[in-house]
Amino acid sequence: MTQSDKQPEKTWTIEDAERVYGVSSWGGGYFEIGENGNIHVIPEPRMNDVRIDMKAVIDEIREENIQFPVVVRFHDVLRSQVITLNETFREIISEASYQGKYRGVYPIKVNQMREVVEEIVDAGQPYDYGLEAGSKPELLAVLAMNTNLNALTILNGYKDEEFLKLALLGRKLGRKVVVVIEKFSELTMLIKVSKQLDIAPIIGLRAKMQSKGQGRWQGSSGERAKFGLNVSEIIKAARLLEKEGMSDTLKLLHFHIGSQLPEIRAIKDAVNESARIYAELVKMGFALEYVDVGGGLGIDYDGSKSTADSSRNYSVREYVADVVYGMREVCDLEGVPHPNIVTESGRAITAHHSCVITEVVGEIKPDGAQIDTAAGEDDHILLKNMRDLADHLSGELNFQEVYNDATQYKEQASDAFKLRVIGLEELGKIETLYWQIMRKVKHFYRNADFVPEEVQSLDFSLSSQYLCNFSIFQSAVDSWAIDQILPVVPITNLHTPPVNDGSLVDITCDSDGKIDKFVIEHAIDHVLPMPAFSKDEPFYLGLFLTGAYQDVMGDMHNLFGRLNEVHIFSYDDDPQDFYIEEFVKGSSVEHVLSVMQYHPSSMAIDIKKYIDKEVAAGNIKPREGVKWTDFYEHCLAGYTYLNTES
Ligand SMILES: *Cc1c(COP(=O)(O)O)cnc(C)c1O
Repeated sequence: MTQSDKQPEKTWTIEDAERVYGVSSWGGGYFEIGENGNIHVIPEPRMNDVRIDMKAVIDEIREENIQFPVVVRFHDVLRSQVITLNETFREIISEASYQGKYRGVYPIKVNQMREVVEEIVDAGQPYDYGLEAGSKPELLAVLAMNTNLNALTILNGYKDEEFLKLALLGRKLGRKVVVVIEKFSELTMLIKVSKQLDIAPIIGLRAKMQSKGQGRWQGSSGERAKFGLNVSEIIKAARLLEKEGMSDTLKLLHFHIGSQLPEIRAIKDAVNESARIYAELVKMGFALEYVDVGGGLGIDYDGSKSTADSSRNYSVREYVADVVYGMREVCDLEGVPHPNIVTESGRAITAHHSCVITEVVGEIKPDGAQIDTAAGEDDHILLKNMRDLADHLSGELNFQEVYNDATQYKEQASDAFKLRVIGLEELGKIETLYWQIMRKVKHFYRNADFVPEEVQSLDFSLSSQYLCNFSIFQSAVDSWAIDQILPVVPITNLHTPPVNDGSLVDITCDSDGKIDKFVIEHAIDHVLPMPAFSKDEPFYLGLFLTGAYQDVMGDMHNLFGRLNEVHIFSYDDDPQDFYIEEFVKGSSVEHVLSVMQYHPSSMAIDIKKYIDKEVAAGNIKPREGVKWTDFYEHCLAGYTYLNTES
């Protein structure tokens, strides 16, 4: 049972909305429901009380004639996440009298947008915060972006000779580029290339860990992990470097046990295991300076603070404390120096900073068309029975029986139709009556303590589907591919009680293009409670926490392509506390077609030819022909999503 059914009488408050949608539970301090019932953004929770009303953002986007759906990026949120992680490490390192420093890097695969990487590099400058690349194209980008000579550049992923040469180019430029060896043959190749070019590398070894991450990505660790060296290979690698006179190039030990780790224990175990390997290598005479604990810092997508896949049972502070204290404990026991600590948190840095705003463009009701069911002369007995049931519903009845009877009549009617016993019109009347009865059954149970299972499922069968102007495959690909929960909340009207429930469907012609899992009152529900909204005004929904992975994974599904984007900066002196600095245009139809090897300009010429032919034949007037040609070209140049302005 959802909120809308249970408490229709009580006055609805913002606290009720907060309880239903859980905005502060998943919002990480950046989002809240304002007194006016709109979602507000708090771009800098540490410092001030700037509040950005998302409704004001939407109004400005509309004034600028930017079409929805739109990705909205809050640059201040991104900066704040970088600062929080670095400051937390500083505080705990000082509190623990830890001797090493924190030297984090941001893995650009999590969101490679240039503006995003630039903002992270800029915010991280005072902390010598670096970047991580996992492929040659990413390394090319990182070499151009990470110009701070004190910040690390960490290179993971499988590497070829070109990749290694680019890394050495970075060394020539004075950068701290660390080549992390993922498999043994990379080391022999690196030794060869660096001797050829006479450039000393900085080498890291990735350890295959026994400690397992949990959650979806636990395959990143263990014996069969794709990346990394096992213990015997680590020893062999160290000995090889010694033999080649390159012992002093071995500086870093790396591991990564998976992304979105729900369980803090896994992190503690892995830190402990890596600290032991580090200590042994130091005792073998290798002066390692860094231990890199990889990514995995989770996000509480569902706000439950639990070990569910879409949550985590720890805070950023606890994570940092476990890494720092865990490392210190082992090193002190072993009598080795505390190494500098590297993390490669991606998701935790970027998830909060962007959201997708889409409009509701239609509502699909299960019992959409109600037809006239007045009694006729020779109605079939099934129709009579159903009408009888509908006409005599009262509080005295056993509603479970009503449910069973109605369901049985409907099934019989469907068979009777197939056997040509009843006609289409009669079947339609039976359906109409059936849904009328079901609404009453549902209403009857609204305050009941016990609700039979089949009646519970009526909530979903009777709920609407809201058609939204976006593509799941572009904007929320994880929710489709790996069942990741993303918070979805109406942007406005939250000061009024929900009046309807619905799931969401997108505009792709794929039946998978839907969202029917929501976190409502801290539990998974299949429908989203919706407040009343006017059909004459656009109504907007926000998909939140889309800044990590989602943002850059969208494919060309149904040829929708990238979304329009607005980049928002907070600005205290502005009456609305923000300004839009940049508008990045999403994919045009022309663009997505040419990626698929079409030639839009010759397509336009062809269409013009066909139109001209019809004009010559007198089937289209010349003036009209010109208009159609222009219209075809206008659509080619336009946005791929629904144009709701015309
Ligand atoms: C993907 C990846 C990361 C980022 O992980 P998050 O869970 O997003 O922090 C870090 N390091 C490596 C090696 C990765 O493959």
